[in-house]
Amino acid sequence: MHDRTAGLSAAARHAREFLGGLDDRPVAARVDAAGVRDALGGPLPDRGEAADAVIDGLVAGVEPGLVATAGPRHFGFVIGGALPAALAADWLVSAWDQNAAFHSLSPAAAAIEEITSGWTLDLFGLPKTASVGFVTGGQGANTTCLAAARHAVLAKAGWNVEDDGLIGAPPMHILCGERAHATIDTALRQLGLGARTPIRIEADDQGRMRPDALRDALSHAAGPTIVCAQAGNVATGAFDAFEPIADACTAHGAWLHVDGAFGLWAAAAPALRHLTVGVERADSWAVDAHKWLNVPYDGAMAIVADSDAHVAAMGLAGPYLVADPGQRDGTNYVPESSRRARAFPIYAALRSLGRTGVAELIERNCAQARRMAERLGAIPGARIVNDVVLNQVLVRLPGGDDANRAAVAAVQRDGTCWLGGTTWNDEYMLRVSVSNWATTDDDVDRSAEAIARAAQAVRGPAGAETL
Ligand SMILES: *Cc1c(COP(=O)(O)O)cnc(C)c1O
Repeated sequence: MHDRTAGLSAAARHAREFLGGLDDRPVAARVDAAGVRDALGGPLPDRGEAADAVIDGLVAGVEPGLVATAGPRHFGFVIGGALPAALAADWLVSAWDQNAAFHSLSPAAAAIEEITSGWTLDLFGLPKTASVGFVTGGQGANTTCLAAARHAVLAKAGWNVEDDGLIGAPPMHILCGERAHATIDTALRQLGLGARTPIRIEADDQGRMRPDALRDALSHAAGPTIVCAQAGNVATGAFDAFEPIADACTAHGAWLHVDGAFGLWAAAAPALRHLTVGVERADSWAVDAHKWLNVPYDGAMAIVADSDAHVAAMGLAGPYLVADPGQRDGTNYVPESSRRARAFPIYAALRSLGRTGVAELIERNCAQARRMAERLGAIPGARIVNDVVLNQVLVRLPGGDDANRAAVAAVQRDGTCWLGGTTWNDEYMLRVSVSNWATTDDDVDRSAEAIARAAQAVRGPAGAETL
């Protein structure tokens, strides 16, 4: 007799406890990895343990090393938490343990991928015929989309990159905004295109690629060409100007990819949609669900207008694989073969919010970013560096790079909230991202006060420069 549910009650109890304390626990971890290793490491025991004892022991050991990234006052990176429906569906992904590679392995997973694809394309206003791959994150989405791009531009030049590889292929041109996300470089590296090959197109002070500079660079780039634009710069939240960029790409016959890991969600919010005008004219789009849609890790979408190019780049072919004609085999749109059914929590998140709920979430976080900017801008000597058009705020405190670094460390130590720093236009500064469904205005105010205290502590009681 197998008790398949042994451990689930313990897990549910611990999850409730953790989630119940998420609003109040210090945001940062209390120990580093060594602390967790000390508690849980050592040689693999000879004898196994009961499931509930394993869960109890695991929780006790990792608890001090957990970061409240899912909580309402983690403003580092671009994170997001987990909507209740998405979290619950995510548990079922594991309980059901479906393999989302093939329709024959899970008609349910195939159907949910299809439904979720349709909802997503509709929300973003993208072509209904585009195909969607359910990948692990923005990195996987950028890689998948750029693999489709690589296929399409080389096929147009008479080269089959899937069969013949890149050795001897016609030379390609890759053009990226100079503020493209690091995962674009990684994607190019993984695809054999090289992280150093892109022509970097000059950007303005907000990180937006300059369309005139792109036009100029394209005029010198004959042959297969891929352009990478961005919806939502990871520091400033700024959007490239898609209309003139799409015009230039159309005129040149270039593939236009848009990295919209979090920013593409602006297209789903009426008050912010103006930022994404023209984005639907691109050929591919990368977007995360685990950031701003507040789905647990990992969940993201690689969207490609030309689904033939998508499948040509990612499709799995092998003699033992049974494809059901006319049915969706999810593996054809992603790098993986076997894969968890990660569309379920995305479906649940979208269904629990509805169209208006998605818009409300995105617009609320942006209003909270403006509120944060207002509070932080009132700190003596502080300067808001970016145009707060989305959910990102950059603030430079007085006293130079070292003082700003010390302030970031002081905020993290204080534990009220967590944020990171970044270097933007040669200055180090504090960086805030508001992307959690549970963040309240009070969380913003409490966090702004903690940041003001850190700024004051770094400057010293009399406002003297101590660093
Ligand atoms: C976060 C981010 C990525 C990478 O996404 P992951 O989900 O971390 O893989 C790519 N591009 C942008 C603009 C991002 O903000």
